[in-house]
Amino acid sequence: MRILVVEDEHRIANAIKKGLEQETYAVDVVYSGNDGYDLASTEDYDLIILDLMLPGMDGITICKQLRKDSIHIPILVLTAKGQIQDKVIGLNAGADDYLTKPFAFEELLARIRALTRRPRASINDTLKVHDLELNPTSFQVKRGDISLHISNKEFALLEYLMRNADKILTKDQIIAHVWNYDADILPNTIEVYIRKLRNKIDLPFPDKMQLIQTVRGFGYKITT
Ligand code: CA
Repeated sequence: MRILVVEDEHRIANAIKKGLEQETYAVDVVYSGNDGYDLASTEDYDLIILDLMLPGMDGITICKQLRKDSIHIPILVLTAKGQIQDKVIGLNAGADDYLTKPFAFEELLARIRALTRRPRASINDTLKVHDLELNPTSFQVKRGDISLHISNKEFALLEYLMRNADKILTKDQIIAHVWNYDADILPNTIEVYIRKLRNKIDLPFPDKMQLIQTVRGFGYKITT
């Protein structure tokens, strides 16, 4: 999942980025309202974290404009302490939720999980395709009874494939949702990661169904 952070306080913005990357999210950070609007309206994000007081376009204007543009990416607004009115204005402008600064990172994570429907750990929230299981909060991956060790990026890619099981995903879609804007990704990087995943979830289990399929000329899918 890919998240855009629009926040002019560098310290806060960078702390959010660092924390979310540890949770396997791909994160882009911009420090001005205009850059925020430009990226939010052109890139395919799963969530936007938006400060309200920004140089250039302010957060409320960005919210309103994105909704007017029919862009319905979930927006989590950050408001400064004591500006209760901001919450109401933000929600009226089309934001989905708000968080008052300063906040605990766990609280931010909980809001993000709720907005992106990446739920808290519980047995029912585990993604399952055949006997392959992925838990988005404990980061465990298992095939049958065997735990698999996969890197953060492989995890993000596998989660994206499993959430979209049976859909063909193009390399461009995979890049857009699994890597951030700064990442220098070439289409054959995706091939490399797909191969790494296959080596872990399919090849060690030759008697089982091979789950990751290549659809020549289109992309990849995981089949149920
Ligand atoms: Ca600010």
